[in-house]
This record gives sequence, structure tokens and C-alpha cells, in this order.
Amino acid sequence: MPPGAPLLEVEGLSVSFATAGGRLRAVDGVSFSLTQGRRVGLVGESGSGKSVTAQALMGLLDAPGVQVEGELRLGGERLTATDERRWRTLRGNKVAMVFQDPAAALNPRMRVGEQVTEGLLVHQGLGRAERRRRAVELLTRVGLPDAGVRVDAWPHELSGGMRQRVCIAMALACGPQLLIADEPTTALDVTVQAQVMALLARLQAETGMAVLLISHDLGLVAEWCDEVMVMYAGQLVERGPAARVLTRPRHPYTAGLLASLPLPGERRERLVEIPGMVPDMRAPPSGCRFNPRCPRADERCRAEAPAWSEEAEGGHRCHLPLSEGT
Ligand code: SF4
Repeated sequence: MPPGAPLLEVEGLSVSFATAGGRLRAVDGVSFSLTQGRRVGLVGESGSGKSVTAQALMGLLDAPGVQVEGELRLGGERLTATDERRWRTLRGNKVAMVFQDPAAALNPRMRVGEQVTEGLLVHQGLGRAERRRRAVELLTRVGLPDAGVRVDAWPHELSGGMRQRVCIAMALACGPQLLIADEPTTALDVTVQAQVMALLARLQAETGMAVLLISHDLGLVAEWCDEVMVMYAGQLVERGPAARVLTRPRHPYTAGLLASLPLPGERRERLVEIPGMVPDMRAPPSGCRFNPRCPRADERCRAEAPAWSEEAEGGHRCHLPLSEGT
């Protein structure tokens, strides 16, 4: 791959599901690219389409009734219409994922060491002794205490934080270029959350892989990532450098997410929630999808869907973007 070339390119990604009440378009025309070594956050409320986007990037949506459209390229390889056989090679080797709930992600009937190196057996055909040695090495690398002993533990014998470290070791086993971390700390205690994010930061710096961090927590994403993408009702509504998005959001939805956050070093009398709910994606509102909840909405917002506007520091999808001080 030429230096500086995007590692991941996503163009017009749309995902829809057949439901009893009609076709549900969970992701609608999402485009972005991601460069090696970057940490990019994808943020939005539950139901905004973040996790479905991640599943599409892992080739996990090959099921009856699911339609995936658009272009995906990883390391220059076109993944549109890639078959499951090829995806099995790519998963783990080039792109790996850490899930929200480590208890659900691990097989309760396999010792953790075997799970960590399952990918090495599949992709590299390593023998038993070599796999055990690599498992201890990987578990040490992710900071699992007494890795030489715990390599033989069952998942239920470990704490939630330890299980997430095992999942991270599994994801890193084959040296992926892209790690997708989908709400990796949501199921953990606050102190353990900080440790897991520090671990991911260290591993990202050591390996140079790109990380796509998916979270409902804009504070975490803005603090941890170089760049932030904000998703609402299946669409990207804002993108930009984290420092800019956190201090000078352009989209009213991003501003609403920020207003609902306690920010470090800032005293707020009251946190303000965004009124209303994420729309039913079988029948999204006409015009701008955020208009029923937006304090700035006018007639044009209700009638005409805003197109993506590219700017010097990112971009947004809004007819009436915020400027500094508004
Ligand atoms: Fe609000 Fe209008 Fe912008 Fe939509 S287009 S976010 S309704 S101001």
C-alpha cells in the first residue's frame, strides 16, 4: 500500500433489513476513509447505525433479508461482494473486532489460551506448543496478571476487565491493520474502563494499526481519538478533528450530545438532554432526520434533506450549522 494511502475506504455504505413492518434502512449512504495509525471515533445514540456499520466492515451481515450496498476497500482490496471464505481470511488477519460484552464474546467451554490463539491455528497453522507460548506472550502483552497460569483459566474464572483483556489479545493475535472496538468498555466498571482504554492506546501506538472506536460516549471518543464521526439515524452528520468537534461543533446534534456531557474542568449547573427519540428507521422524518428534535429547525429543514458539506476542518450535514458562539 503506498504511504499515506487510506487503509479503509467506505463509499455510500447502506444496510437494510427486511422486517415485518417494512424495510428498515439502518445505515444510509455512509462514506469515510481511515488511514493507518489513526484513531477514529464513531459516536451516536443507540439505534444510530454505528454497530451495523461495524458489522458491515467485518463482513458479518451475510444473512437472508439483509442488503448491503456501497463500496468497501481495505488496503486497496475491494470487499464488495466478497464471499464468506475470503472474509474468514480477512477477519483476524487484516481487520479484527473487540465487542462490548467480553462474557458473550468468549466461549465458556474453551480455556482462554486456546481462544486467544484460535486465529493462529486457522490462519497460520501453528502447533499446540507454539500456540501456548504465543498465548502467554499475548496475554502478558495485554497486561493479564499471571498470564502463564491464567492461560489455562476458563472465562468464568476471570473478572470482566480480565476477560476484555483476553478479547483484546484475541483480536491482536494475527496482527490486524484495523481494529474495530465496539463499545469496548460499556460493560466494565469506571476504573477498569480507563485501564482498558489506556491499554488500547498503548497497543495502537506499538503496532501502528488504525482503530475505529465505536461509542455512545462523545466525551470518551473526543478524548481518545484523533478524529470524530457523529452518526444520527443511519447517516453521518458531522466529522472532524476531535479537538474541533469537542469545542466547536457544527451540527446541532453534536452540540446536543456535548451539552449532555459532564466535561472535565467545567462546572455546569445542569446537563441538558436532547429531547425526543431516535426515529423509527422504517419511516424516518422527511427533510432533515434530526428536525423533530432540533432547536434550530425551520421550514427548509422539514422539507429538504441536507446534503453533506465538506469544510476545512471536517464536514457536516446541516442547513443551518452552528458557528462559534452560537
Ligand atoms: Fe437542525 Fe435544520 Fe440542521 Fe437539521 S438541517 S440539524 S433540523 S438546523
